[in-house]
Amino acid sequence: MLGIGIDIGGTNTKLVVMNRSGKLLAQDRFKTEADKGPRHFLRRLGAAVEGLRRDYGRQLVSIGMGAAGDVDPERGVLRFAPNLKWRDVGLTRPLEKLTRLPCFMENDANMAAWGAYELELKRRYENVLALTLGTGIGSGMILAGKLYHGATGSAGEAGHVKVEPGGRPCGCGGRGCLEAYCGSRAILARARELIKDESAFVRKYAASDRERFNTICLTNAAAAGHAAARRVWEETGRRLGEGLAGLILVLNPDCVVLTGGVSRARKWFLPAMMKVLGKQQIKTPFEKVKIRISDDADLGSHGAALFGLEKALK
Ligand SMILES: [Zn+2]
Repeated sequence: MLGIGIDIGGTNTKLVVMNRSGKLLAQDRFKTEADKGPRHFLRRLGAAVEGLRRDYGRQLVSIGMGAAGDVDPERGVLRFAPNLKWRDVGLTRPLEKLTRLPCFMENDANMAAWGAYELELKRRYENVLALTLGTGIGSGMILAGKLYHGATGSAGEAGHVKVEPGGRPCGCGGRGCLEAYCGSRAILARARELIKDESAFVRKYAASDRERFNTICLTNAAAAGHAAARRVWEETGRRLGEGLAGLILVLNPDCVVLTGGVSRARKWFLPAMMKVLGKQQIKTPFEKVKIRISDDADLGSHGAALFGLEKALK
C-alpha cells in the first residue's frame, strides 16, 4: 500500500510516492504558479497525480498534502496562504473527486512534524515539537502520539510568538515575532546592517558565481572566521533559544526537531541557543528534552505521504 505526499510551496509543488515504512519510490514536481489561480493549480496537480497513478495504480490508497498557511484540516480548505495570496480554497474535495482516493490536507509544518516523528524518530517519542526554519518559521506538534490541531487547526504558529515587545516588524503585520529575528529573511536583513560591502562579501563567501547573498553565504563566512557573520548567527541562536524555551515550558516535549534551510547553520547558532535553554529556572523539561536537526529537505512531502496513509488505513 502506497501513499502520495504533496507539499505545496510558494515556488514549487513537490509530489512523492512512499510506502508505509517510509521508502521513497517516486517523486515529481512542478511550478506552483499561484498567480494563475487555484483552478489552474488544481488542473496541474491532477495531471501530476495521474502520472503517478499510471505507474502505481491500485497500490495507491491515499493522498496527504501540506500547504504553508492557515489550513482547515476538517474541510480540506486552505483558509489563508499569504505566500500564494489565496483565500478559502478547497483542495481536498476536488482532488478526491478526480482521483477517488481519500485526501487529507494539513499545514506544511504539521506535515514536517509528522515526517520527523515517523522518519527521523521512528515513533520512539510520544511528544515531539518540530520547528521549520526557513524564510518563515512554522511548527508542528505530536502530543501523546497524535498530531495536535488546537481548536481551529491553527496550532503551531510559533513564528509569530513575540520575543521582543514592539520589536522588528514581521511579515504578518505585527512586531517582535520570532520570525522577525530568526527567519532567513530577517537573518539576512540583520547581516546587511553589519556587513558594509555586500557584493565583496558575496564574491568572497558564495559557493558559486551564481549565488546571491543568502544564509549559505553567511554560514561560509562564519566558518572562515568572519566576525560579523558569527555575531549574526550567535544573535539568531539567542533569539531562537528564547522562543524555544517558552514552547518547551508549555509543551514539555521529549524531543525538538529543527528542520529547514536555516538549520544547516547549526554549528553557528546552536551553542547560543543551548546556552539560553541551559539557563532556564525550571530545569526538568530542559534536562529531559533532546534537540535534533533533520537534514531531510523534503520532510514536508514525506510526512504528508505517511500522514495520508495513517489516516486512510486507521
Ligand atoms: Zn509575525
